[in-house]
Amino acid sequence: KKYQEESFERRRLYNEVIELKGNIRVFCRCRPLNQVEIDNGSNCVVEFDPSQDNELYIISSDSSKKQFRFNHVFRPEDNQEAVFAQTKPVVTSVLDGYNVCIFAYGQTGTGKTFTMEGTPENRGVNYRTLEELFRISHERSGVMRYELFVSMLEVYNEKIRDLLLENSNQPPKKLEIKQAAEGTQEVPGLIEARVYGIEEAWGLLKSGSRARSVGSTSANELSSRSHCLLRVTVKGESLIDGQKTRSHLWLVDLAGSERVGKIEVEGERLKESQFINKSLSALGDVISALASKTGHVPYRNSKLTHMLQSSLGGDCKTLMFVQISPSAADLGESLCSLNFATRVRGIESGPARKQA
Ligand code: ADP
Repeated sequence: KKYQEESFERRRLYNEVIELKGNIRVFCRCRPLNQVEIDNGSNCVVEFDPSQDNELYIISSDSSKKQFRFNHVFRPEDNQEAVFAQTKPVVTSVLDGYNVCIFAYGQTGTGKTFTMEGTPENRGVNYRTLEELFRISHERSGVMRYELFVSMLEVYNEKIRDLLLENSNQPPKKLEIKQAAEGTQEVPGLIEARVYGIEEAWGLLKSGSRARSVGSTSANELSSRSHCLLRVTVKGESLIDGQKTRSHLWLVDLAGSERVGKIEVEGERLKESQFINKSLSALGDVISALASKTGHVPYRNSKLTHMLQSSLGGDCKTLMFVQISPSAADLGESLCSLNFATRVRGIESGPARKQA
């Protein structure tokens, strides 16, 4: 009874917050300078205001400063715990029946995979999220029964590939997005593996990650050219009133957003980058349409947005990490990413200011 009241209260409060602030959040994360950049004596072009945790400044070569403001800004010294502390309320709301999408956007090498997947020493959002979902579902086992499932897929050149299929005994399948009866989007045939604990789930996802690089000359190359999507499906049943929920949490490591020079690129690479540009701008268009609450939301312009349609908009929660490099050499790309993220948020960034 108490749990149910609390749950209703949480929902009510949350809806109130949505009304006021919208349900799209943008976090910016700036990685540290890496060893090569330090050895080369690279300049850092990103500045932070010590008293503000939601803004940063980019210093251009003419010394002008441009301010950017997001819901939160993570600095190079902020660790994975700090990032997860801000992310946790969004991801765990999938247990209350919300659909949630988290994206990592940015130039290759800025830490998208570090933020989402992390490393064995520095676990990222994906691992910490699963761990937390198992922990909370265990904690609530007296009032709720939860079942967790994971799927993992890749979108490369507008084709969907099931990353859990490689390690199953099933034959290859052509995956397409279908409109389900209740108006949601489904990918029939996509493997949904029931998982019971973090180590089991993580083992499965590791094997999915390995499948990502199959068939490419360089693992890193393909992973930066494709979108990798981890989907956690939560089925919940209240032991008090029998009410059932089914919700999705999508954790998306997007393809690198860098623009590739027109001259050096041809053939396969050109085709790849056209697909990437198209899908990333389609994602930007969808989120900014949702943020600005303009009528039409163009979900159908890419496989990515079409597949995520029922998890974007409405009372779904969306969080985008815009990842940047602090190095002067990446200034152009960092500005592009920050401008993209600002547009997505539906709020204009601050005016350019001359440095004193
Ligand atoms: P992307 O996925 O955007 O291509 P990666 O996640 O592969 O980038 O990051 C590139 C490199 O930088 C990796 O070696 C990663 O471990 C390191 N890195 C990225 N972000 C951070 C960070 N915040 N702190 C420490 N190392 C980082």
